[in-house]
Amino acid sequence: MGGGARILEATPESIREVVDILLAGEVVALPTETVYGLAAVINDGGALRKIFQAKGRPSYDPLIIHALDLSGLLDLVEVGGVLLDKLRRLCDAFCPGPLTFVLRKRKAVSDIITAGKKTVAIRIPSHPIFREILRRTGPLAAPSANPFGYVSPTCAEHVRISMGEKISHILDGGPCEIGVESTILDLSGRRFTILRPGAITAEMVSEVLGEGVELLRPVASTDPAAPGMLRQHYSPHTKLRLFRRSAEEVLLNFGKDFGKNVAIVYLSRNHMPLSGEGKWAKNIFWLSEGGDWNEVARNIFALLRRLDGMQFDLICCQVPEKIGVGAAINDRLSRAAAKF
Ligand code: AMP
Ligand code: MG
Repeated sequence: MGGGARILEATPESIREVVDILLAGEVVALPTETVYGLAAVINDGGALRKIFQAKGRPSYDPLIIHALDLSGLLDLVEVGGVLLDKLRRLCDAFCPGPLTFVLRKRKAVSDIITAGKKTVAIRIPSHPIFREILRRTGPLAAPSANPFGYVSPTCAEHVRISMGEKISHILDGGPCEIGVESTILDLSGRRFTILRPGAITAEMVSEVLGEGVELLRPVASTDPAAPGMLRQHYSPHTKLRLFRRSAEEVLLNFGKDFGKNVAIVYLSRNHMPLSGEGKWAKNIFWLSEGGDWNEVARNIFALLRRLDGMQFDLICCQVPEKIGVGAAINDRLSRAAAKF
């Protein structure tokens, strides 16, 4: 499966080559600390459109811009006064890293990026290879390098398998350290809102700001207030059902239709129930050894992709409570299962 695209090992030469390709108005898949991104320069409408074409992404779904530092970010947004102080505090605490800010955009920021909105989403990534490229290209727009709606890629091979025919180059920076997309924090309204949970949690943001932040619920459609925050997203092709404690919750209802062709996924190897699911032993997988949420986040998309390639008829996956990084994992799994 897949093909076409060349996977380049990250070396000084290949990084130079990638910079040249980007500056010539082409798209390249790049490693970030969250997931692999499909990048283009922000001042070339043709290059930006190629991102949407390659992903099959609808034009109403805005892109995130990646800037090298706070000063690069501030070049693109209108922000002052108290809000600027708060932004600085958040940057001191979390940037570079997996936190995206939604702020009022400057006129110069392309409507293609923002899907016509007056706000723009920007983050300062920490991945050293991505940063080296940003230093030479200036800010890059980069959504996840997967077909729209499918599971995000956390290694170069994932990108090749699902996007290899649509793009020409993938820069290999190894597996992604975080494994789920950035937290998106909307600072543009009167109340600060987390539009998408991630590794930087609502609790962490609240602590730095000294005020509460709201967590937005996924919406069913193309709500203009939260473009792209679709209830269904990140879905494998295989039917997915979620359970909280025991897979029997699902198997009693659905499993019988599938015989034994069911994959059962636990959050932690240490917390698998001892009874009930024993007869499914060969079909059991886990997302972490001891239930560390960061380890679960790092593994979740890779495991969904692996299981998708194993011809199961049903995947039953345990979901965590929406606490801390558990909120991000719960969000991705709930959206992935919403299709079925
Ligand atoms: P990704 O697919 O990881 O690049 O994430 C892009 C997501 O960021 C979009 O689907 C939106 O949900 C969100 N986003 C980007 N720009 C904005 C914006 N101006 N306002 C609100 N959300 C945004
Ligand atoms: Mg995405």
